[in-house]
Amino acid sequence: MRTLQVDLGDRSYPIYIGSGLLNEAGLIFAKHQLSKKSPVLIVTDDHVAPLYLKRVEENLQAEGYRTVSKVVKAGEKAKSLDVFHDVMTAAIEGGLDRRSAVVALGGGVVGDLAGFVAATYMRGVPFVQMPTTILAHDSSVGGKVAINHPLAKNMIGAFHQPELVLYDVDTLRTLPEREIRAGLSEMVKHGLIWDAEFAAWCGENTDRLLALDPETLSYGLTMGCSIKAQVVSQDERELGLRAILNLGHTIGHALEAIGGYGEFLHGEAISIGMAASALIAVNRGADRALYAETVRLLGGFGLPTVMPEHLDEERIIGAMMHDKKFKEQQLVFVLPVAIGQVEIVSDVKVEEVRRVIRELKK
Ligand code: NAD
Ligand code: MG
Repeated sequence: MRTLQVDLGDRSYPIYIGSGLLNEAGLIFAKHQLSKKSPVLIVTDDHVAPLYLKRVEENLQAEGYRTVSKVVKAGEKAKSLDVFHDVMTAAIEGGLDRRSAVVALGGGVVGDLAGFVAATYMRGVPFVQMPTTILAHDSSVGGKVAINHPLAKNMIGAFHQPELVLYDVDTLRTLPEREIRAGLSEMVKHGLIWDAEFAAWCGENTDRLLALDPETLSYGLTMGCSIKAQVVSQDERELGLRAILNLGHTIGHALEAIGGYGEFLHGEAISIGMAASALIAVNRGADRALYAETVRLLGGFGLPTVMPEHLDEERIIGAMMHDKKFKEQQLVFVLPVAIGQVEIVSDVKVEEVRRVIRELKK
């Protein structure tokens, strides 16, 4: 087991990464003084529940915890006000009190949804992340929790740090292949924004990562979580630096939105977004090799890096305007400077985005 610390003063917390950790949940909860007197709410989805819910429930119960579970329908649509309402109902009916923990057992969708419930139930209760996707190495660290509005993604949310993150890498073995690739997109992103050596390592270990080789995967996830933790520790509330984590997300979120949150997985959309950001940087004078290397890395994982022909340019631009990153009529973009280094710029013109959309369709 590897342990990392997210340093946030009195809101600091550990990330445990390793094999078989679901079977230690009860002990670890107790070690972190999560209340045994108050019921624990486990939120999960209907793909994860049949695989892992019983094990977590039984493990917590064996340690003296009372559990209530809420299973939501899998998919991005679970990050809605309606489903949020249903989970709140389960929390109230389950008798949760201020010391109750809300546990997210699942991917980023369940993490964001359960986290927003934890942030708002009785104005905030303890929260535990138990990520079960590769992508969730990113979403489970950092305390951003949110649901979507039909007009825009993650528009209704909060900052609510977990008490701990318990990452059992064995759960990743049941992930569909497409989800594995999409999750690795955020891992590559962490290299691209922060650590050229780690980006190169991802390129050298593509096959081992895709095959879920346990040692390789644990190292990659630990590095990804560690980079995220370092960034978040320096800027918890995204007043500056933290925005670098949004590489590829300005265009990526727009693609997710116009695809009705069904056409692209998050990791696929940001892969196209990262390719587009590199191309904007090249059009502004960066070395073309920066774009070529970005595409090579992402392409190695079978991730998309071109703009699908059928996507309407106007709709992409329109969706971008609804994004949180569209501030005071300016598009805020994270652009690569070199592999492992990015800058935040607020003077990208809509015309530059139109140009790369067209270039990426060729
Ligand atoms: P997800 O939660 O929808 O999981 C992907 C799919 O895999 C789902 O169908 C799920 O049921 C299934 N699944 C999960 N674990 C499984 C397992 N072990 N075995 C088999 N199937 C399993 O999606 P995701 O990619 O994990 O997360 C995407 C979400 O994360 C998006 O909503 C995105 O906005 C959010 N996100 C949030 C942050 C943040 O900082 N809060 C960061 C990045 C992404
Ligand atoms: Mg993301």
